[in-house]
Amino acid sequence: MANMSEKTLFQKIADREIPADIIFEDDLCIAFRDINPKAPTHILIVPRKPIPSLDQLEKEDEVLVGHLFIVARQLAADEGLENGYRTVFNCGKEGGQDVYHLHLHLLGGRQMSWPPG
Ligand code: 5GP
Repeated sequence: MANMSEKTLFQKIADREIPADIIFEDDLCIAFRDINPKAPTHILIVPRKPIPSLDQLEKEDEVLVGHLFIVARQLAADEGLENGYRTVFNCGKEGGQDVYHLHLHLLGGRQMSWPPG
């Protein structure tokens, strides 16, 4: 897990230390296109607060997490995903999480399958 005294990869993107295709930001979060997209639209919505994963969520984060979904809905509309889309939080090793700064995946533009791999 990331050393909390160091910036996470996604904090470096938010601070423009690492380039990314940033498409939205506000006081609470930043959204940018995934560098290795798994669908025609693949956006990561990341809270500015460097919460490592869902497992570290606290009661005070309730509104923040709700906000990430409101942003996802708006970005899905902006991307023209009127036929549907998927939002995903991967959590921990078996959940397939690679970057330990909480992020909501927004995927769309193709038919999704179920169950996920
Ligand atoms: P996770 O597996 O942690 O749920 O998702 C991490 C995501 O971050 C992956 O989909 C991966 O492609 C994406 N990612 C990793 N490094 C970078 C980067 O430097 N820039 C961008 N835009 N996305 C990244």
